[in-house]
Amino acid sequence: RPTLPEKIDYVFKVVVIGDSAVGKTQLLSRFTQNEFCYDSKSTIGVEFQTRTITLQGKLVKAQIWDTAGQERYRAVTSAYYRGALGAMVVYDITKRVSFDHVARWVEDLRAHADDSAVIMLVGNKADLAADKRAVTTEDAVEFAETHRLFFSEVSALSGGNVDEAFFRLLEEIFSRVV
Ligand code: GDP
Repeated sequence: RPTLPEKIDYVFKVVVIGDSAVGKTQLLSRFTQNEFCYDSKSTIGVEFQTRTITLQGKLVKAQIWDTAGQERYRAVTSAYYRGALGAMVVYDITKRVSFDHVARWVEDLRAHADDSAVIMLVGNKADLAADKRAVTTEDAVEFAETHRLFFSEVSALSGGNVDEAFFRLLEEIFSRVV
């Protein structure tokens, strides 16, 4: 892409949370670079990545934050959540326990982020649904409705639904902020 000067109209901070190994880092690199990296933890320490999109004629820079492994020590700090306008709470559709922990992540988020933050529940690794699914779509839809979250099943590996999920989240933030 040529590096033309861009006049950014808005910057939206979005945090990605969820258990370790659900695919947070891969979702981020799929959305910001259209890449899936099999040796993912080489990017450890990177705080956020960005992608600039156009929404209703405005240039919006999405600043997507990665926990960079903090969640392993249950040490996701309030600084991580500060200023977030949206959040993706990710679980792995092949790991029931990662879905069982979603409620905790949503609580953590609601305790630390702004009340108006838009939350999207994301079931990742949909490419493995045929033989390894451990969380039904119905269970996730029910949880999302109960907790008033947006919901999507995606695959960082295939790229399926990843852009759609981020765009839905960013469009919802846009409609609340602008
Ligand atoms: P994080 O700890 O939540 O950031 O998870 P990572 O992004 O490091 O991914 C954890 C593991 O799951 C890695 O081995 C990835 O290659 C794998 N992974 C991530 N997304 C997908 C996906 O959509 N499909 C499949 N099959 N594997 C994935």
